[in-house]
Amino acid sequence: MKLAQETPSKNTTEEKTPEKKKTGRKELIKKFPVKCNLEEYATTYDTFTWEDARSEISYFQDGKVNAAYNAVDRHLTDGRKNKVALYSVDAAGQVQKFTFQEIHDAANKMGNALKALGIKKGDRVFVFLPRVPELYIATIAIAKIGAIAGPLFSAFGPDALKDRLQDSEAKIVITNPALKDKLDAIKKDLPDLEHVVIVGADKKKLGKGELSYEDLVTGQSSELTCEKTDPEDPLYLLYTSGTTGKPKGVVHVHADIIGHHMTTKWVLDLRDDDIYWCTADPGWVTGTVYGIFGPWSNGASVVSYEGRFDAASWYKVIDELKVTVWYTAPTALRMLMKAGDDVVYEHSLDSLRHILSVGEPLNPEVVRWGMKVYGLPIHDNWWQTETGMQLIANLPCNPIRPGSMGKPLPGVYAAVVNENGEEVAPGELGKLVVKPGWPSMLRTIWRNEAKYQEYFKIPGWYFSGDNAWKDEDGYFWFVGRADDVINTSGHRVGPFEVESALVEHKAVAEAGVIGKPDKERGEIIKAFVVLANGYTASDELLDDIKEFTKKQLAAHAYPREIEVKASLPKTRSGKIMRRLLKAWELGLPTGDTSSLEDD
Ligand code: ATP
Ligand code: MG
Repeated sequence: MKLAQETPSKNTTEEKTPEKKKTGRKELIKKFPVKCNLEEYATTYDTFTWEDARSEISYFQDGKVNAAYNAVDRHLTDGRKNKVALYSVDAAGQVQKFTFQEIHDAANKMGNALKALGIKKGDRVFVFLPRVPELYIATIAIAKIGAIAGPLFSAFGPDALKDRLQDSEAKIVITNPALKDKLDAIKKDLPDLEHVVIVGADKKKLGKGELSYEDLVTGQSSELTCEKTDPEDPLYLLYTSGTTGKPKGVVHVHADIIGHHMTTKWVLDLRDDDIYWCTADPGWVTGTVYGIFGPWSNGASVVSYEGRFDAASWYKVIDELKVTVWYTAPTALRMLMKAGDDVVYEHSLDSLRHILSVGEPLNPEVVRWGMKVYGLPIHDNWWQTETGMQLIANLPCNPIRPGSMGKPLPGVYAAVVNENGEEVAPGELGKLVVKPGWPSMLRTIWRNEAKYQEYFKIPGWYFSGDNAWKDEDGYFWFVGRADDVINTSGHRVGPFEVESALVEHKAVAEAGVIGKPDKERGEIIKAFVVLANGYTASDELLDDIKEFTKKQLAAHAYPREIEVKASLPKTRSGKIMRRLLKAWELGLPTGDTSSLEDD
């Protein structure tokens, strides 16, 4: 395996800062912090234990801890009560601000209302809302009373909703009039659902079991004693993205907050003067952990944006709120790259100081493009719904190697192993595993203990289901999902390296790669590509793309077949579903498609 070139992280990128390219924009001058929250990786890695993090978290007596208390209540007495906790930008770009005191009061009212409806510790309360303030307030309210929060992405269709609400036996769903229709379609199949709470309801139209959110909270006290939850009491129940199969209901607990807090501090590097925007919806783990609990536990100001993706609107959010730290995903970054450089240079973006990405492999080409147009390296990091926090990351204090996920965080031991759980030599491909015991590790799969046990099938390890390799210096490199590995002429090839080579071609905006059965070679590599703006498919272009990738990859790893598609099948969280590309190609059953994005 070849190592990509290192890209300096911390304060050494200025020489790569581009000259002013277009009019309307000053030269990019990136202000790097003099210090990062985690300054010294090696020493911290060698000495840190999770016990050391206890002092960062507020505990009740007898070691009880509540994540919502840490996220909100404690800031009422640490000097931050009038600090903006949430900048909520609606779809039209209007901004509403909420201080920690205001979030506290609103969440307490909602917590009292839920209690009055009979919600008790351990009950599941699901939130099916767009990114409006009530989504954040309700999540805190649910956690404060010890109930289990179930975030649901607002773009879910009735089937995806039904799977989750049935499986979790949810008692309440908090939604709005526009989304309620989807719920109505499946209500008859949800015997445990007692109430539907509607934000902005037309009170004349409330049906059986339906309640107005505003009526519920009106008259409630803003005083609420936070439930003294045990560290092992469930905090949230979140379903995985469904990229590789049916989504799994992952159970996380209040003790997770230690992991949320420390990783936010180290990886996102948040300080008191930051304005932080996590573009992920809380319906996905990134949006819950790093859009709510992690940043708020650190007392940071969080931005939420209700609108849909488009490059100009996103850059406008950054400029208007002076976002300093921006956490997003490869799919969004690829779309931004596709939108072109001009729209970047029409905006200032000079408030940004730290950019991060998670959720899928981040193609080196995207990192290089980020350096060019934002003047900043994009910090990839790896984790899963199940891991509950970032485990491997490009920390601000370490140089970046574009294409690598970075190094394990202090307190985390990650390794690449063979089938028997033995660590393989640097450079060798194997299974990415982690030593169990980090604070935010999943506690079970909801009503499916057998599935939970599968994560520990290699003794002594948590089995991630991803393939990777580690280099001599301890950087981890993602290869693909264990199920996606392609066996061609006796070689194992991960789709990621092929896809990354493809997107380096100027005509390719996105690529998804699969193994296609072949008599002679076992499998051949087939690529599906979406062309960049301004390109049309032709035999010459496809040959050119093939030749181009051939030069970048080992001889066996280039795609023998390339097919142009208008779009690639993705989960609603934006991940390429290679298993669908394969099923379609081979005419096989498609399996669970409830996570498939349909617009
Ligand atoms: P499902 O488990 O239902 O198939 P999923 O694995 O996509 O869905 P998530 O928990 O949202 O559900 O995603 C975790 C996975 O995303 C990881 O196992 C990995 O395959 C991928 N991933 C996350 N971050 C990165 C990254 N930085 N680089 C490469 N892959 C990543
Ligand atoms: Mg997974």
